[in-house]
Amino acid sequence: MDVIVIGGGIAGVATAYQLRAAGHRVCVVERHATVAQGATYGHSGVVLPSPLDVWFGPTFLRDRRQSSSGVICKTGFGGPARAFVKRLGALRSSEAFAARYALLRPLIDTAESALDDATNRFQLDYEQREGLLYLVRGNDERSLTQPALELLRRFEVPHHALSAAECIAFEHNIPPEPPFAGGVRIEAGRMANCPLFVKQLKQVLDNQGGVQFQTGREVSSIRLESGRAAVELAPRLPAHASAREVEVISGDAVVVAAGAQTLPLIAPFGVKLPLYPLRMHTLNAPVAHEECVPHTTIIDAAKRIAITRMNHRLRISGGAVLLRANQVDEPLTEALTESALALLGEASRDWAPGAARISAALAWEGMKLLSADGLPAVGNAGHPRLFVNAGHGPAGWALALGSAKLIAQQISGTSPDLPADTINALSPVRG
Ligand SMILES: Cc1cc2nc3c(=O)[nH]c(=O)nc-3n(C[C@H](O)[C@H](O)[C@H](O)COP(=O)(O)OP(=O)(O)OC[C@H]3O[C@@H](n4cnc5c(N)ncnc54)[C@H](O)[C@@H]3O)c2cc1C
Repeated sequence: MDVIVIGGGIAGVATAYQLRAAGHRVCVVERHATVAQGATYGHSGVVLPSPLDVWFGPTFLRDRRQSSSGVICKTGFGGPARAFVKRLGALRSSEAFAARYALLRPLIDTAESALDDATNRFQLDYEQREGLLYLVRGNDERSLTQPALELLRRFEVPHHALSAAECIAFEHNIPPEPPFAGGVRIEAGRMANCPLFVKQLKQVLDNQGGVQFQTGREVSSIRLESGRAAVELAPRLPAHASAREVEVISGDAVVVAAGAQTLPLIAPFGVKLPLYPLRMHTLNAPVAHEECVPHTTIIDAAKRIAITRMNHRLRISGGAVLLRANQVDEPLTEALTESALALLGEASRDWAPGAARISAALAWEGMKLLSADGLPAVGNAGHPRLFVNAGHGPAGWALALGSAKLIAQQISGTSPDLPADTINALSPVRG
């Protein structure tokens, strides 16, 4: 089949990869000049989510004070956005958290084996390294991470629950003051450079043939008919729009992997994805004192802020701002941006003091979609020719490869690897 993929982030390129592997011809349309320029660019490097990184559960949004939850909630006082936060709140009970994670787990496993397969097959080197250390401040946070530890045990993920002293013995640069409760070390937890992986995967596809990349082109709308699917491209030069014919690419199916832009692209078909925009931030700060730089990636487990070394810089990512759906395209106010970046600065001072020159950091922000039930929107979107791979939240680096495989299997009409309850839970048209 001929399949059009909208979006050249990790989700779109992974979808192209899995579709090609299943024997389809693919055209990827990306509005930027190259791939991996959206949310994929700002990733913090954590390859696959553990129960401690998913964006739902007992520690997530446990109160609306940004100082403790790490999320600035600007959803207003009424309407759907508030209902969305309430639904997320329902996943804070350990039973609901465990049930949701159990549905996600097969996708994590499929994504992991797809990533390993691509890495080995094409000998890819995208700065992979192992070792994650999650830290918790107080005993209240520590007790809230217990359901996640229970899931690590249940799914046999090797890990070590550590006291504060054990954390410091492992990572000498963590300061003993102010006192903190402890942490969890996952030795096999993986970090890697997501944009580098995406570019390498594109190169593999360029070399193999069968996948065409239309970069610098924006899809303005999708057309679905019973026998064909097509996308309309916005004119290259808007000023000359009236003088040009509308350019159309036709195929047998369309996969929308356009990050936050997925929502407006599929809205005309009456598909309302259960997703809300979340703006996330990154500080890339030059190393200040080499001897203070943590040797491992540190993650503030309650605030979901990751601190990791990338070459001569420290990358501090998190600082989420949850918005109303109609604010996707609006820039954040200066005050909100400052509050989000302040969270990152604080985390760096708390867990890696002296390591980075925050005053000289370059700030970056990116938009992600978050679902109220914690799972991405993946699969057929109500019309036989329309598919979606989006809404991976802030944990979509490698998950996208597993989702892409499901979409390739659905388009090919082959039996999916994932169990039916996970497929139903991922469906873009779930209730
Ligand atoms: C600060 C930050 C830190 C993160 N840290 C992690 C992490 O540690 N681990 C993890 O797993 N995940 C992390 N994430 C999340 C992860 O980066 C995302 O889940 C993933 O990158 C989503 O990829 P995507 O392809 O869906 O979206 P994007 O990367 O946003 O790609 C969508 C693409 O579609 C293109 N597009 C949109 N509309 C159109 C159109 N109309 N026509 C053509 N092209 C279009 C865009 O230009 C863009 O390139 C983080 C995200 C952020 C912002």
